[in-house]
Formats: sequence, C-alpha cells, structure tokens
Amino acid sequence: MASKGIQSVRGFCDVLPEQSPLWQHAEAVIRDVLEGYGYREIRLPVLERTELFRRSIGEVTDIVEKEMYTFEDRNGESVTLRPEGTAGCVRAGIESGMLHQGEPRLWYMGPMFRHERPQKGRLRQFHQVGAEVFGVAAAELDAEMILMTARMLRALGLDDVRLQLNSLGTPEARAAYRERLTAYLRRHEDRLDDDSRRRLETNPLRIFDSKDPGVQAVMADAPRLLDALDEASAEHFETVRALLDRAGVAYEVNPALVRGLDYYTRTVFEWVSDRLGAQGTVCAGGRFDGLVEQLGGRPTPAIGFALGLERLVALLEDSGAAGRGGPPHAYLVVATGSGEGLALAERLRDALPGLRLQCHTGPGSFKAQLKRADRCGARFALILGDEELAEDCITVKDLRGEAGQRRLGLDELVAEWADWID
Ligand code: ATP
Ligand code: MG
Repeated sequence: MASKGIQSVRGFCDVLPEQSPLWQHAEAVIRDVLEGYGYREIRLPVLERTELFRRSIGEVTDIVEKEMYTFEDRNGESVTLRPEGTAGCVRAGIESGMLHQGEPRLWYMGPMFRHERPQKGRLRQFHQVGAEVFGVAAAELDAEMILMTARMLRALGLDDVRLQLNSLGTPEARAAYRERLTAYLRRHEDRLDDDSRRRLETNPLRIFDSKDPGVQAVMADAPRLLDALDEASAEHFETVRALLDRAGVAYEVNPALVRGLDYYTRTVFEWVSDRLGAQGTVCAGGRFDGLVEQLGGRPTPAIGFALGLERLVALLEDSGAAGRGGPPHAYLVVATGSGEGLALAERLRDALPGLRLQCHTGPGSFKAQLKRADRCGARFALILGDEELAEDCITVKDLRGEAGQRRLGLDELVAEWADWID
C-alpha cells in the first residue's frame, strides 16, 4: 500500500515483527556460542570521534574515503556514526585500562553505518555481531576463533558456507611486496578502472578488494603476498592451517583476500556463501596486531571478526529456518465488562512460562474479538464467556488446525500446554 507518510532514509531498513523471530534466533545462538568460549559483551556508543576511524581503518580505504557518516556536532567537533566495531572496542579498552589487564575477550552487537550503494545484502545501516581478543599472539587463538565462527554457523544449520583464508604478513613484509605489486600493476595499468588506477598510487593492495571483474582478472595473475611473507608470519599461517586441518574444518586459501580495512596483519578469513549473490561474505575477520599501539595503547596483539546479521538472516530465511518468538500462542476472548480477563491472563502467564498471550482489552462482541484473534496470528483463541466463568473452565478454539473447539479446566489446559510451549 502506498504510504503518504514520511519514508525511511534510503538504505536504512526496518526489521518488522514477522522478520524479528529469525533475528532473535540468530542473536541467541551466536550469544550462546560466544559465551561458551569465554567472551563477554561490551556495549559501545554509535557515535565516535572521526579521528578514531581515520587512524584505524586507514585514510585510503573505501570506508574512510567515501562511506562514513561524518558531520560536525553542535560544538563543531567532527564525529562519525561508527562504520565498524573494532576501532570503538580498542578505544574503550584503552580508555578503561581493560585492554592491558589479562587477555580480554569481548563481543558486541549493533548497527553500523556506511554510505554505500544500497542493494541486496548491502545497506547503509546494517548490523554486526563482532568479537575481539586482545593480548594473545599465538596462532592457536586464530584457529580457535575460526572454530568458534564455524560452530556458530553449524549451530544455525548453515553448513554450506565456505571458509577462505589468507595471511597478510607483517607491515614490513607488505611494504616490500607493495613495490613488486606496483611494478606489475603499472604494466597492466590500461586494464585497471579509474578507482584502481588511483589506488595504484595510494594503496595498491586495496585493488585486490575491487569488485570489478576486469580488475579482478588482472589481480588473478598478480604476484602474491602469500609468497612474500616474512618467515614468522609464514610459520604462523602454517600453524593455523594445521590446527584447522586437525579440527576437520575445511578451508580454501585465497591469496587475493585482503579485507576492506588497513589494520589487518597475518591471518585474515571470510565465510562466504553462494546463496547471497554478489554480497556473499557473511562473516569476516583477522589479526590486527598493530592497531592498539596505532591508537595510543601499549603494543598488544589482537584478533577479531564481524558477522553481518542481514546477510546471515537472509541465509536463514532461504533455508527455511524456524525463528524464536513469533505471534502470540493464544488470544484471550473475554465477556467484556466482567473484569476477569486480565486476572486470568496473569494466572496463565504465571503457570506457563514462555506463553505468549494477548488479552483482549476494551469493548467488542465475541465475533469481533475472534476476528482480532485471527488477525494477530494466534494459533488458539481462549474464550472466557459467562458460561465458562460460571463453570470455572475455558473454551479453547483452534484457529489454524483441526482441533476444533474444546472446553477444559484451567489445570487441564496448563498440563496440556506445558510441553507444547517452548
Ligand atoms: P563487503 O566486501 O561485502 O563490502 P566488507 O569487507 O566491507 O564487506 P567488513 O567491514 O569486514 O565487510 O564487515 C563484516 C561483515 O559485515 C561483512 O562480511 C558483511 O557480512 C557485513 N557488511 C559489511 N558491510 C555491509 C553493508 N553495507 N550491508 C550489509 N552488511 C554489511
Ligand atoms: Mg565493504
């Protein structure tokens, strides 16, 4: 129906009640898995100083160059709606002192903002669940984090998402490699698009991240950073691979995987689905051993990932997964004016934890109330009329199935429904 009201901002979407059960399901499963690995939630502000992202994500990245929601607040300070969660995590960790106490394992969930071209799987406000661990340099942690993301996807029934792996080495190894890459790209400059030609001067590694098929073809034959790793990074990568092999997690090494942010070092990984069209990456992460220091903290190795909830939910929808919650189990139809409806509804909620019950309020004939019961999506109408009141029972009417209509004592109803309600 065409609406005459004010429309939402392009690329900013609502999650309507019929979609939220899958979101809740995904969020609950992911949270359980994170807790199972000792991660604790951190809740971060949506707005940060612009400087934070410039210094972490990298000046010459799509995000910082053209995707940030940056504006001056009323005091003339430049602030930005967070395009990702890692920078804020590091900022909060340094500011609170927490980063340098032990080996914190943090997770967060919430909206991120990037001014991209909206399309399927690409929004301007989107949601991520992310996690970071600080203070551990060992390759075991890289493997464990990947195993954890594998467990999340498995727990959600998504076993056709593929794991891609690469190593970006150290900044020093990357600097040496950059010269070789630039020389190669200069020889093929005519096949690059404008964006990539510009990147050639500023940040040639970023060209691997180009979504342009022509450019991708040039990059396929480019010298590989993976072949130019420093010894320690190569060994680190070998260990990660061996641990994944041992755990039976399949992966593909993709030397073109560079990720869209500059702060990554060593291991990077992505979980990719073929069912999402061009926007196939559901979950992505990697090490960022230099970032804490870069943002003013003490040198602290770190690793993290972020998972895009819109893309994940699209996959769950496509698989026909069941969500959490949903419409009420029952709608309570009452003899109006008796004042008994609310009291009975409270008793039922006490007796049946998890029951989703909507009680009729205000005037309305039985017929009108039953129509509302139907419209709210409830499976059953519970009818409390004068007769039921007199006999201390309730009529249960199946609005969707074959069960028809039955009269039950309250205890009977509770006993019958206790198993049915999850
Ligand atoms: P892409 O290459 O798809 O643009 P990215 O490398 O920019 O992704 P990250 O910054 O690593 O993505 O974010 C991690 C995850 O967040 C992505 O794998 C994806 O699932 C999700 N994501 C990123 N940008 C968007 C967006 N604009 N809309 C919806 N989901 C997004
Ligand atoms: Mg992107």
